[in-house]
Amino acid sequence: MFRHLPLSFALSLATGLAAAIAAPLAFAQNYPGSKPVTLIVPFSAGGPTDVLARTLGHSMQSALGGTVIVDNTPGAGGTIGINKVAKAQADGHTLLVMHIGFSTAPALYKSLPYNTQGDFEPVGLIADVPMTLIAAKKFAPNTFPELASYVKANKAKVTLANAGIGSASHLCGLLFQSALEADLTTVPYKGTAPAMNDILGGQVDLLCDQTTNTTGQIKSDKVKAYGVTTKTPVASLPALKPLAQQGLKDFEVAVWHGLWAPKGTPKPVVDKLVAALKAALKDEGLKKRLADLGTEPVADAKAAPDALRTHATAEINKWGPIVKKAGVYAD
Ligand code: ASP
Repeated sequence: MFRHLPLSFALSLATGLAAAIAAPLAFAQNYPGSKPVTLIVPFSAGGPTDVLARTLGHSMQSALGGTVIVDNTPGAGGTIGINKVAKAQADGHTLLVMHIGFSTAPALYKSLPYNTQGDFEPVGLIADVPMTLIAAKKFAPNTFPELASYVKANKAKVTLANAGIGSASHLCGLLFQSALEADLTTVPYKGTAPAMNDILGGQVDLLCDQTTNTTGQIKSDKVKAYGVTTKTPVASLPALKPLAQQGLKDFEVAVWHGLWAPKGTPKPVVDKLVAALKAALKDEGLKKRLADLGTEPVADAKAAPDALRTHATAEINKWGPIVKKAGVYAD
């Protein structure tokens, strides 16, 4: 290769090349080092995505041999936080914890400041979290059949909270409104933690949210609950019937969550992250915490880059036509 070059030049070229190959390896060997790894949560603190990220981050620390912290960057249904990770340095110190909204946003937004399929290195899936349809205690309907008639009769007088366009609560709300053929008044928040505060205070009527935010409130009877969005009941809330068994035929939403790094993150760093994710999902403390909140970690094979890449793409293809048919867009 260096045959026609002066020896000194060829030597320095070879040394440079060797250094260029060795640098990422040395970086990966020391990764994460003393600098914390930040999980960007694109919703408010205290909500479902935040709770999942903090639980995961806590359990990833020992496998990673470093500190994991959470940074809440809410707004625009999660797309502001997603964009922050797309633009972050690809060194494994800034990661994204996001859900199904990663795959619905391309259809819901006319334009996005990032490239969903080009700007990220998938690390793996984390958990599928069921949702529950809940209401403020003072909201009149007590059962799902009562709710269905009330919503049909009162339509826009009913307020439905969500975490912005592209959030899981927004998606669930869309499916609910389309199943009942009723347009309600939607109230966007920066996450479902503040939405829950307004449900508890009675300022807003309805919310569809992950069990990771609603289980405690349902169990302590602080909210009304009408059903779960999975086809079978959730172990932590056995008395709550699936919406699909209460007249909303085929109604099903489970909120998958994934972990991504920015595109260009060195492969050895991604490998370390995959190993730490897999170790965290086997941690008994994490499993217990998730079980109490109505969910469980994904199977080991799904906590892997290919599994997340394939799933996110399939979900983009699945939700695109559904969202287009619903005719909802954000600017
Ligand atoms: N549960 C929210 C959603 O509807 C987001 C959150 O606050 O975690 O997407």
